[in-house]
Amino acid sequence: MTLTLVRNPRLSARTTLGLGGPALAEAIVRDEAGLDQLARELPGLGGRPMAIGAGSNLLAADGPHELTLVRAAGEDEPQLESHAEEVLVRVGAGMGLPRLLGICQRMGLAGLEGLTGIPGSVGGAVAMNAGSYGVCAADALTRVRLWTPKRGLFWRSAQACAFDYRRFDAGLDAEFLLVWAAEFRLTQDDPADVRARMAGVYAKKKATQPVTAKSAGCVFKNPEGKSAGRLLDEAGMRGKRLGGMFFSDMHANFLVNLGEGTAAQALELMDFGKNAVRARFGVTLQNEVVVLE
Ligand SMILES: Cc1cc2nc3c(=O)[nH]c(=O)nc-3n(C[C@H](O)[C@H](O)[C@H](O)COP(=O)(O)OP(=O)(O)OC[C@H]3O[C@@H](n4cnc5c(N)ncnc54)[C@H](O)[C@@H]3O)c2cc1C
Repeated sequence: MTLTLVRNPRLSARTTLGLGGPALAEAIVRDEAGLDQLARELPGLGGRPMAIGAGSNLLAADGPHELTLVRAAGEDEPQLESHAEEVLVRVGAGMGLPRLLGICQRMGLAGLEGLTGIPGSVGGAVAMNAGSYGVCAADALTRVRLWTPKRGLFWRSAQACAFDYRRFDAGLDAEFLLVWAAEFRLTQDDPADVRARMAGVYAKKKATQPVTAKSAGCVFKNPEGKSAGRLLDEAGMRGKRLGGMFFSDMHANFLVNLGEGTAAQALELMDFGKNAVRARFGVTLQNEVVVLE
């Protein structure tokens, strides 16, 4: 099956926060023929199409969503093209970043170590320009393979796209756009050195973030020159709880679902945190997490 359609998938089962009501449908696309099928099926599925990866940056409201989720789910191994100084790595959007990083580690491919500990998919990492400690996905990206219902599949160079802090804009006027694959420019290195750098990034995160809790990572972006976590902390939000949701006592910018949390509680806590930071510091925090109301 190159395209699988699922009716009424629950966002709570598709997001790391474990929150959210049902969407209308989910289209799981495994190969290019599946994309052709998708183009034919999409108009009949209803609602707005929305790409979804590992759901690790999504906060979905509890009620029903007028959405068709579209998931790139190709399972091909990455393709490598070696040149004198660099290795071009082409990888499907559905591959998990942790898996890609594991491959880089084994093969001694350097350049993506800064993405260690990010539980998203390759497509989600491009769409969010994910990163940490000053490194982001766009740094090593050479081009992206995009799909729109009207144009089908095509490559677009990274230079033709705009990337910013947690922002990607392909510069296209399309009502729906799927990242289907990405190509990264990496360099050959000693696998032990790559492993050591990844271990260093992960150890730093594990010491300061609730890496295994049900969360969506940082909920707010860092304002220019400031840490959102520190602002929330100093505004008294660390450990602040509402029902089954709380601002982690390890890192105040991580909103955690303790198990029985609801999106309504999550959104109320986020508002509370924003208001507290605005009142104390005059700074308005912007969402990093993608909120589906
Ligand atoms: C424990 C934890 C730690 C985290 N740490 C970090 C961190 O250090 N740095 C960081 O940047 N983020 C971090 N995150 C957030 C998250 O993992 C990243 O934003 C990640 O890149 C999201 O990828 P995803 O596949 O889960 O995307 P999703 O959450 O599924 O989607 C996020 C957005 O990307 C879009 N999207 C997803 N896939 C595609 C696609 N194929 N084509 C087009 N659009 C797409 C969606 O429409 C949505 O707008 C963390 C999350 C958790 C849970």
